[in-house]
Amino acid sequence: MSYAVDLTPRPVPRVETRHRRIVTQIPVPESIPILKGLYDREPRALQGQPPVVWDRAEGFQVYDRWGNCWIDWSSGVLITNAGHGRREIVEAIREMIDKPLLATFAFATEIRAKLVEKLVSLYPDPLNKALVLSTGSEAVENAIKFARTYGVKVGGRAKHVIVSFTGAFHGRTLGAQLAGGIPQLKEWIINLDPGFVQVPFPDGYYCENTSFDYFLESLEQQGVDPRNVAAVMLETYQGGSAAFAPVDYIRTLREWCTGHDALLIFDEVQAGFGRTGKFHAFEHYGVVPDLCTGGKGLSGSLPQSALVGRADVLDLHPPLSLTITHAGSPVPSAATLASIELLLKENLTENSARLGRLLDQRLRGMQERYEEIGFVAAGRGLVAGVACVKPGTKTPDGDLAKDVVWRCMEKGVLMFAPVGPGLGTIKICPPLMINDEALNESLDVLDEAFGEAVEARRKEAVTA
Ligand code: PMP
Repeated sequence: MSYAVDLTPRPVPRVETRHRRIVTQIPVPESIPILKGLYDREPRALQGQPPVVWDRAEGFQVYDRWGNCWIDWSSGVLITNAGHGRREIVEAIREMIDKPLLATFAFATEIRAKLVEKLVSLYPDPLNKALVLSTGSEAVENAIKFARTYGVKVGGRAKHVIVSFTGAFHGRTLGAQLAGGIPQLKEWIINLDPGFVQVPFPDGYYCENTSFDYFLESLEQQGVDPRNVAAVMLETYQGGSAAFAPVDYIRTLREWCTGHDALLIFDEVQAGFGRTGKFHAFEHYGVVPDLCTGGKGLSGSLPQSALVGRADVLDLHPPLSLTITHAGSPVPSAATLASIELLLKENLTENSARLGRLLDQRLRGMQERYEEIGFVAAGRGLVAGVACVKPGTKTPDGDLAKDVVWRCMEKGVLMFAPVGPGLGTIKICPPLMINDEALNESLDVLDEAFGEAVEARRKEAVTA
């Protein structure tokens, strides 16, 4: 059987610092049967991540069973904003388990009431209602459903178009993928719904034209009558690049949506809950959306997501028409409340903003030294994208990005596999409670790994 990841254990230099420990071959020989078991029995599409078998995780560190410890730059997959395995979250979960109350949606629970009260209190007016769900994709699906219902109600059946952006990722379910802006991911859909339209995302790098006129031109080119737009949905920053749109663009978009009675939806499944150095990432733009999704860092642990929005929109469907088995399930709800409390109590949004500036500064320093870094998206909290390119071009270099990620793993800094265009973007997203020392230490590792990877290919080029 051949696998997407090389499972040959390689001897690597021993690492022992306050925050990292690598004391075995990588991948760990004893972990191979576990990895192979997964590769043999799960869909191939799950393969491709660095071959580390997690045993436990605490704060910003991840441990395996064989004595290795990594500084985590993945936060799971941007889940553990408040930190891995936080005692307060574990205790809240345990309390609910010990009651015991493990499941119910149809009937009310006090914990769900507390959670929606808390959620609604965290968002500005007019976002006054919340639907608690389990996954990010589910929140997106519901955002689409409510937006279309709204559009048709205010403008008739023609007003059903959902506008989203090229390069966007909103999840892997049907509606989320129709709204997604990565064509390869939706080839399987075959009969794409013409009511989902994408316009270029104005990141200033992949799309240099960042004027709002380009949005309008793009709609026109695709034959969309602005009056028929039910909603415009965007990731507050794009997950694949970590890039934000210009503030002016989004402010104009907000006005345009209001003027056309189209809903503005921010998908903050990834960007919310302190990640970007603001509690809600939309605060960077100085606008308020009509609907906002949240997930991942919302619970910081168990599967939970939310759709928060205008009451007149979220009330469009009648009683008994929204039965969702695991929505607001008691154990994840307890985890989410505890996680939110930690984020607020420990000012982790501020920590994210402060350390985000350090991250930005150091990555830009690297960009000056390596012509293989084409684009750095950073500076707003603890999330960054480092786009690896063939020097002098914007052509993504996925091999280099992967080499860097793998070298970091061998040195005790863990990231998920590269993302974004050509899968050439190294994504950096540690838990928000990481400290200066550990962040600096892990950035030293990235720098060293980058230098080695670049050196190795220069040597290869000479001998080829
Ligand atoms: N929206 C965004 C912006 C995301 O980043 C993701 C997950 N990467 C999703 C939606 C889908 O979330 P989930 O994987 O929980 O379904």
